[in-house]
Amino acid sequence: MTSTLTPTTNPHWIGAAQAIAAADSILIVTHLHPDGDAIGSLLGLGNALRSLDPSKRIDLAVDEGVPSFLNFLTGVDTVQPVLTEGAWDLMISVDASDEARTGLVGAYGRAHSPVVINLDHHISNTMFGNIHLVIPTAVSATEVIFDLLDSMQLTIPSEVAIPLLTGLVTDTLGFRTSNTVPRTLEIAMRLMQAGASLREITARTLESMEYNAFNLWKQVFPSVILEDGVISAVVRLSDLAAVGATDPTDSGLSSFLAKINEAQVAIVFKETLEGQTSISMRAKYGYDVAGLALSLGGGGHKQAAGATLDAPIDQVRAQVIPLLKAIANGTP
Ligand code: AMP
Ligand code: MN
Ligand code: MN
Repeated sequence: MTSTLTPTTNPHWIGAAQAIAAADSILIVTHLHPDGDAIGSLLGLGNALRSLDPSKRIDLAVDEGVPSFLNFLTGVDTVQPVLTEGAWDLMISVDASDEARTGLVGAYGRAHSPVVINLDHHISNTMFGNIHLVIPTAVSATEVIFDLLDSMQLTIPSEVAIPLLTGLVTDTLGFRTSNTVPRTLEIAMRLMQAGASLREITARTLESMEYNAFNLWKQVFPSVILEDGVISAVVRLSDLAAVGATDPTDSGLSSFLAKINEAQVAIVFKETLEGQTSISMRAKYGYDVAGLALSLGGGGHKQAAGATLDAPIDQVRAQVIPLLKAIANGTP
């Protein structure tokens, strides 16, 4: 590959490349409730490092494993949902803005790896770890990985290009978010040239939904309220039980609600455990929910952010809705 797209002046890129070259064993982890960018980053980087040097041990892990809609990616069968043994020369965290987001596998990996590379694109990144590849202007963590591989002058095989394009497509909602710039499409072009099908990735991610997840939407639609530019929905444990669902973390609902013309921001309150609530927020172009997420102990991007709070769902609603109304009624 040529390195025309590479920010070669950043010493962290060189440090990261050196740390990777020096390590015989590498653990890569990503964030809880992984999305297309999390798994795309895990497998894109994992498959790249495996093909670069088959003698290195490359382990991949994420709590609870890979969601089924991402099973088409090469290498999913090698992703471990739990770590109970092992030690590594290097751990790389991808697409996670803080240490807690890397879950139990991240905690285990940190305790058993002397060096940690923090590779991410969240503006809210806490700068944990020893080497930072944190680029908030990158649309996805897979964009940062593309740049890293580019800086190492690696050729990109299709089993790397496909997961990398998956992260680009899912985090930009199909190249529609406001951070999508000509260079985003240039990287997508390079990944397509390397064998990734934009049509297949789009169909398997953005255009895919399990009927059971849709049943949960049907169940919670009566809870939807639009008030002062804020549209909200509530997903309780009882709703999950009513439709036989186990996973309240589907973030498609907040993106769907954010389409509503009369709303500037959308939020879905999800009861993840008794007394624990996670929120998924979306903002229209010109509005920003990242700061609010950060102030609530979470993180994210201007247009998509979230947090998990140790408080009952109705208390979280009473606290957060007025703050969102202030955002929705601020100057765009
Ligand atoms: P979601 O609404 O789950 O799709 O998440 C939107 C964005 O917010 C993503 O970039 C996530 O990384 C971020 N995010 C969601 N939940 C949390 C959390 N509990 N802590 C930090 N960031 C979060
Ligand atoms: Mn993610
Ligand atoms: Mn991401």
